[in-house]
Amino acid sequence: MDLRTVYTTCSYCGCGCGILLEVLNEEVIGSLPVKTHPVSEGSLCIKGWNIHEFIGSDQRLKTPLLRKNGELQPVSWDEAMTAAADGLKKVVEKYGPDAVGILASAKVTNEENYLIQKFTRAAIGTNNVDHCARL
Ligand code: SF4
Repeated sequence: MDLRTVYTTCSYCGCGCGILLEVLNEEVIGSLPVKTHPVSEGSLCIKGWNIHEFIGSDQRLKTPLLRKNGELQPVSWDEAMTAAADGLKKVVEKYGPDAVGILASAKVTNEENYLIQKFTRAAIGTNNVDHCARL
């Protein structure tokens, strides 16, 4: 039996609470707070206490999906990104940049959120960008 804990950061929101993931035989089975963590100081919200559950979930998306003939189908990242870029381009060309709105996420890094707002403003040409922490 191989039981260990892995010190990491909760990925559910931007608070960045410290978490110890309990790993049994390479399967993540539990999460615990980190008492000495400077942000969370031994506390977690309900999402942090249960963060281990999505890792092995069979409902977890592991590949991009693209709707084809009315059905969502797994595709490569290249195909998904091309479809997204083509779709955005069509909307901007037909209706203008303010017809597009981008929602960012607390589950990505500050640097990635910076790039998202930069892309929205500089590449698409709209200020319609927001963040899930405000929704
Ligand atoms: S434990 Fe809760 S408050 Fe802390 S980072 Fe995770 S989701 Fe955010």
